[in-house]
Amino acid sequence: MGIELPAAPVLDGWKHLVSGKVRDVYVPAPEGPWEGEDVLLVVASDRISAYDYVLSSQIPDKGKVLTALSVWWFEQLEQVVPNHLLSLDVPAQVAGRAMICRRLDMYPVECVARGYLTGSGLVEYRAGQQVCGVALPPGLVEASPLPEPIFTPAAKAELGDHDENVSFERVAQMVGLEPAQALRQATLELYTRAADIAKQRGIILADTKFEFGRGSQGELVLGDEVLTPDSSRFWPADQWVEGQVTPSYDKQFVRDWLAKESGWDRNSGQQPPALPEQVVERTRERYLEAYERLTGKPLAL
Ligand code: ATP
Ligand code: MG
Repeated sequence: MGIELPAAPVLDGWKHLVSGKVRDVYVPAPEGPWEGEDVLLVVASDRISAYDYVLSSQIPDKGKVLTALSVWWFEQLEQVVPNHLLSLDVPAQVAGRAMICRRLDMYPVECVARGYLTGSGLVEYRAGQQVCGVALPPGLVEASPLPEPIFTPAAKAELGDHDENVSFERVAQMVGLEPAQALRQATLELYTRAADIAKQRGIILADTKFEFGRGSQGELVLGDEVLTPDSSRFWPADQWVEGQVTPSYDKQFVRDWLAKESGWDRNSGQQPPALPEQVVERTRERYLEAYERLTGKPLAL
């Protein structure tokens, strides 16, 4: 399915390289401040995706929330695994929504950790009492806590396609056994630390996705965004009930509206319709609330 993205902004000193569903990625231009350095400027737009579509509506300030939250988490977690963040001194046009990062050789694996059972994990569990080849005890239901966090990787799909859940063995075939073990260990350590921090703030980190790459010395480096509502399921702890779907901090209003009210059929192959103003506003508030609850301070916009 084709996805049309809005043109990436033209930025002095940087040359547009590629755009994903949410981020526009740039490399240093000749005569720019980072000329000749092996870095990327990663700009988080206000685009929002749902059901693998980039929606035509944007969520104001979402890119700032994703960036500020990732930066905050990088700080909390830098003792666990080094990360790609180098500088926040970015062109004024994208201030607050962009970071300058070490350019990594990315592993083509979405490194997912789950502490609770839901979503595609629950679907797999119901089919065979396992997720990505990790056997689980019987009797688990929606939102059940797992005996311990598990590594449930997915192979990265092309733009517009679903990522595919895969086993640890498959990851080892793709990247080698030792790198696969390092990815699993880093993912679980990061999850455990982050879940602990979130818990102290009344938030359950049900699951989350990390992306890693190799630095110039071949070392493992945490890349992409981390622990944002786009890459994680955050549940307000006081609303969690085992056996029930917990309203998440992420795109719940968007998904609910698209699935139940918009009249759009997600299997039609058609682009979803524009979001009503109220859905945009409530989603924006949700993103800001997630930032404030986790970090303990409102986002300075
Ligand atoms: P993808 O499935 O590729 O993540 P996406 O639509 O989610 O697609 P975005 O998150 O919008 O993509 O764009 C960010 C892109 O930059 C991703 O492909 C991500 O893997 C890549 N990336 C993130 N950090 C780095 C880095 N330090 N070095 C190189 N690439 C990176
Ligand atoms: Mg991404």
